Amino acid sequence: MKLIMLGTGNAVTLNCYNTCYAYKEKGSYFLVDAGGGIQILKQLEMADVPLKKIEDIFITHKHLDHITGIFWLLRMYAAKIKSDKFKGTVRIISHQEVIDVLRYVLIHLLDVEPEALLPHLVLQTVEDQDTLEVLGHKITFFDIHSTKAKQFGYCLQIDGKTKLTCLGDESFNDSETEYVKNSQWLMHEAFCLYSQKDEYKPYKKHHSTVKDACEIAESFDIPNLILYHTEEKNLLHRKQMYKQEGKRYYSGNLFIPDDMEIIDLS
Ligand SMILES: [Zn+2]
Repeated sequence: MKLIMLGTGNAVTLNCYNTCYAYKEKGSYFLVDAGGGIQILKQLEMADVPLKKIEDIFITHKHLDHITGIFWLLRMYAAKIKSDKFKGTVRIISHQEVIDVLRYVLIHLLDVEPEALLPHLVLQTVEDQDTLEVLGHKITFFDIHSTKAKQFGYCLQIDGKTKLTCLGDESFNDSETEYVKNSQWLMHEAFCLYSQKDEYKPYKKHHSTVKDACEIAESFDIPNLILYHTEEKNLLHRKQMYKQEGKRYYSGNLFIPDDMEIIDLS
């Protein structure tokens, strides 16, 4: 299984795309979030991800930097379904708050009844701790208990012994302990370096720093840590700077992907 990082930036980045990514396995895709606009179509094109090969899309929460790109995907799928050009099925998975927004967008902005798109486009509501299958793998969604907007993270069982846990775009909290425990991969946001915390004030926005995320991964003995949802001031040196700070607090494999970078999860 491969992880294609379509975007790695925080909510208001302009020089890299907002954080979103696609899992690829055997020519099929599972997309998580879609960033803040029509640029999602370009990112998918550059990563060679055809819309018809996306089986499932999960949306973590309704903030603009995660959901607005989905509006464009809805528009594309709805048009293709109406003109009989999309005969497959794409399932869009999220909790009720997001599904309500998507229904609103379909009905009031795109002028289409969600039911008219069945069975080709399915809106699937999940509750805290629900388990589904994506790309043939078990995935369990959980409420990260954000105080900003309702947000779900997830655990993806890649194979019998490989679990990947994603905590969305907020820092680890204790309610997530059971999910993070025994994960081989952890996806965690890092707004900036700890040394830049006075400049970027990540804690005000419930975000964390490279040091914080690395300390969490180290405390759970997690072998692989992927950091994303960052500031964009020095993208050219972000990987090097973040790794330099991270390695002081974390002894596993630290990934600071750039947009369009591919990580091999198998
Ligand atoms: Zn965000």
